[in-house]
Amino acid sequence: MFSFSVQRCLAKLKTIFDVRARLVLLALILVVPLMLDRVHILESSRASQVKAVSAELANVADRGAESQREMIKTVQGILQTAASVYVYAYHAGRPCEMLNSGLKMNLHGIGNISVVGSDGRIVCSTLPVLVGVDVSDRHYFHDALAERRLVLSNYLIGKSYGDPSIMAAFPTTVIDSRVEAVIVTSVTLNWLEELVGQAPAATGMTVTLIDGKGTVLASKPALDDSPAARAVIDQAMATAGDENSGTAVPAGSSDGRMFASARVPDTNARLIVSIDERATLGSIDRDIRAAYLQLGLVGLLVLVGAWFLSERLIIRPIRLLTNAATRLGAGDLSARTVRSGLPPEFIPLAQAFNAMAKRLAERERDLLSANRQLSVLASIDTLSGLANRRAFDSRLNVEWMKAERENGQLGLAMVDIDHFKTYNDTYGHLDGDACLTKVGAALIRIATEVKGFSARYGGEEFSLMLPDADSARMAEVGEMIRASIAALELPHDSAPLGHITVSVGIAAVVPVAGQDPHDLIEAADAALYMAKRRGRNTVVAHGDIRAADQVAARAV
Ligand code: GH3
Ligand code: MG
Ligand code: MG
Repeated sequence: MFSFSVQRCLAKLKTIFDVRARLVLLALILVVPLMLDRVHILESSRASQVKAVSAELANVADRGAESQREMIKTVQGILQTAASVYVYAYHAGRPCEMLNSGLKMNLHGIGNISVVGSDGRIVCSTLPVLVGVDVSDRHYFHDALAERRLVLSNYLIGKSYGDPSIMAAFPTTVIDSRVEAVIVTSVTLNWLEELVGQAPAATGMTVTLIDGKGTVLASKPALDDSPAARAVIDQAMATAGDENSGTAVPAGSSDGRMFASARVPDTNARLIVSIDERATLGSIDRDIRAAYLQLGLVGLLVLVGAWFLSERLIIRPIRLLTNAATRLGAGDLSARTVRSGLPPEFIPLAQAFNAMAKRLAERERDLLSANRQLSVLASIDTLSGLANRRAFDSRLNVEWMKAERENGQLGLAMVDIDHFKTYNDTYGHLDGDACLTKVGAALIRIATEVKGFSARYGGEEFSLMLPDADSARMAEVGEMIRASIAALELPHDSAPLGHITVSVGIAAVVPVAGQDPHDLIEAADAALYMAKRRGRNTVVAHGDIRAADQVAARAV
């Protein structure tokens, strides 16, 4: 059972994997790997491009963090110097004067330098209007006093600065513990602009600074409020690990934007550098899509092409040859296969087939003609040239059925040469044969004349069958036979008349069901018998038998 179903499966597979399917498969095996290789190369090129972009993003983020670190260092140096100057001036009794004159600097990104007294009020500043402002509520002021080190605030969107900035506070107690004040200044994000300025404009790079809660502090260019931008920030927040080192987190990807983020040193702010993935990878993505499309199209083309070619070059010629062979096998000897349109490889086969079919047709014709000759030979008596007994019997059956069907007449004459035994005895058997031939020839002539059918019934006895002939007509024909043979005057010295004569018995019938053709033969035979009894060289009709019998009986 199992092996049967396996065999069925195999047979099914064989029909599916016909020569066309195999060719298609072969073509695909040749083409698809090449196409896939191209797609693979493009995919790897895209991957390396993504890697390069990620590295670039991380690099930019690192540079930003580094710039900030540099800035803080600079700020620390400046504030330390300012503290020293202030302490010195403090002891000299003119603290603010020296600050105002000595520290008027114009450092990009670093704002005014102010000195905050221990009560939290600005006592002197490079921007005089700030003097008297109370900053005692700022934690960086207290932290700097308490921790005696440089303290940085979180990023602030400063009321007076517009751009986000951080406040740096440095206590003078580090220089001189007797002088309790804090030197403060603001540090703005000028490095952010520099960073963006360095990035190639075409890449569509966005540099965003967020605080610890994910609030956007600054963005260059301005960040839109799209879900994509928000998703980048959320993901950067989620993937942020311990980034205090300032090393950028490797680039991720969110909603079509690639990004890298880095913690800004000494602050809780984070720098996110992102790029529009589509703008960057658009061209290679288009190439990849085109390659896939090509793969599909070429695959389809190969499929259709291989199918069409195998149909045209293999299947169709085979089908043509098979059809011709099937027709030939079914007996149509005129079956030939066309050569035009066949592939050259099939032409010798088609030629061989056509030659074979031609030879077969010739042989068939020869056979038919030989058969015809044989059947003619089988039905002819060679000595007399008339139909033989077998042919006579079959023709009698045919005519009998025809007459029965058409309710017609059928007449028969039985002819016997008189005293033929003595002819043989007198002239020899060979002359006897020659005599039979001459009588046969005479009968052929008569049969042709009366449109009848004559045969050698056996020995020296002949018959002549005549369709549509009644007794009267048969009597005429019988007499014609008798007279014709007598007229030949074939010498027969031993016969009473000195030449060959024949006796003829005739009969005619309208065949009806239940009757037999032999009845007609018997009737004609009986009449012949009577003709012999009446002295030979005479014609007797079957209907006359009874009367003739009585006459003969009286004569005896
Ligand atoms: P009847 O007038 O009563 O017919 O007498 P008959 O001698 O003709 O008849 P019979 O039946 O006695 O003899 C017929 C002879 O015909 C005998 C036979 O040798 C001869 N015969 C039959 N067939 C052939 C043949 O093919 N060739 C030759 N030469 N003679 C044949
Ligand atoms: Mg005879
Ligand atoms: Mg006889």
